[in-house]
Amino acid sequence: MSDAQISLHASVPSIDSILRLDTAAVLVEQYGRSLVTEGVRQVIADIRSQITELGEKALPLLAESAVVAQVARYVEDASAPSLRAVYNLTGTVLHTNLGRAVMAKEAIDAMVKVATGASNLEYDIESGKRGDRDSHLDDLLCKLTGAEAATVVNNNAAAVLLVLNTLGQRKEVPVSRGELIEIGGAFRIPDIMKRAGCKLVEIGTTNRTHLKDYAEAISAKTACLMKVHTSNYTVQGFTKEVTAKEMSELARSRNLPVIEDLGSGTLIDLSKFGLPHEPTAQEAINSGVDVVTFSGDKLLGGPQAGLIVGRKDLIAKIKKNPMKRAMRLDKVTIAALTATLQLYLDPDTVAMRVPTIRLLSRSKEDIQAVAEHIAAPLRQALGEDIYVKQINCQSQIGSGSLPVERLDSIALSIAPQKGKPGGKLKKYAEAFRALPTPVIGRIQDDAFLLDLRCLEDVGGFLAQLDDLKL
Ligand SMILES: *Cc1c(COP(=O)(O)O)cnc(C)c1O
Repeated sequence: MSDAQISLHASVPSIDSILRLDTAAVLVEQYGRSLVTEGVRQVIADIRSQITELGEKALPLLAESAVVAQVARYVEDASAPSLRAVYNLTGTVLHTNLGRAVMAKEAIDAMVKVATGASNLEYDIESGKRGDRDSHLDDLLCKLTGAEAATVVNNNAAAVLLVLNTLGQRKEVPVSRGELIEIGGAFRIPDIMKRAGCKLVEIGTTNRTHLKDYAEAISAKTACLMKVHTSNYTVQGFTKEVTAKEMSELARSRNLPVIEDLGSGTLIDLSKFGLPHEPTAQEAINSGVDVVTFSGDKLLGGPQAGLIVGRKDLIAKIKKNPMKRAMRLDKVTIAALTATLQLYLDPDTVAMRVPTIRLLSRSKEDIQAVAEHIAAPLRQALGEDIYVKQINCQSQIGSGSLPVERLDSIALSIAPQKGKPGGKLKKYAEAFRALPTPVIGRIQDDAFLLDLRCLEDVGGFLAQLDDLKL
């Protein structure tokens, strides 16, 4: 170490001297002594390694005010939540990486209420005896789906695992090769089957499966027939799929149940809102499926949950499986799910009150009005070298629902006025992500796009444009 470096090291302020400063006291007041002390220690350690690296150039870092500023940044970072709100302007309404469904106000109010104090989660108020946490939901689910019984778990993957384990352990479950899906995030039917302790019997081919394939696969070891909604892909062309109704009739004649993983599963006919038809839970029940599973935070528009509806005797068996205890819902989710399901009791207002349905069915005129409102302020924030143009674009539903369907939407397209965009689009995307409430768009066709279908909080969006740094 050179003499200069030794003298620099000697003039690094001590931890105590920093903590004695009034500016540090302000931080202690807000963030607590322990975190601030940790911050000071870390910043000083960083300065020492900077001295070794930069020599004399590290001198400005030694000023007390510079140290406190670094400490402030450290404690702010350490106290900021990792999970933050963002604006989802990707055009994918149910974006798994961005938290899927946005919840209804009614669901949020219900969550706050049960989180704030004690509740009758497993307590029967009338009798004063122990109750069942499913009781808050099962009547409602039966009413909405036409099923005899219902139960709920943490997500649909858990629901599928639980149903298969309950009905099919050490037995065989025939599934069409056209339905052996993988959805994002390591959910693969063959793997789930194995973990559930079932033996998968692959039948038919990728593009065509016939009823006789099921019939021939049934043996003394068969537990049930399974249908899987091929959420995130479609097979087109020379195809043949056996309907749930046909499967149910066959299964009934052999005294076997049919289970169906609906994936997204919705409770209302989406075509009423100008959207493509997605199979509903009622349709599955009506066609004779004995146990249906679907997600709470996909098209349903509620919290993450796995809904299981179907025959009373089978649901009772599922509820008795010890695995159910490991997958049970917490009170906050039960509150949100109940409130969301209640909104479906009024089909006339559900599209307005459930944000997922509202955003999916939002009219192009409505989205255009948002575009017109924010285009000028956005142009101003971006400066003269960048153009902002209103374009037609296509949103998608996401989360594997209706994978090929697209919804007409409007985006603001952002690109440099002159020359090839090159790396600039990535820079724009970064700048929008760096906003206090990050804005997530998409890069497509040589432009950075903000699809405005999901922008409802226009005021909040505009208020932070001043912070945009390009
Ligand atoms: C999404 C999906 C699942 C998994 O549901 P999660 O609620 O995400 O656990 C399972 N099966 C199908 C067909 C799906 O689309």
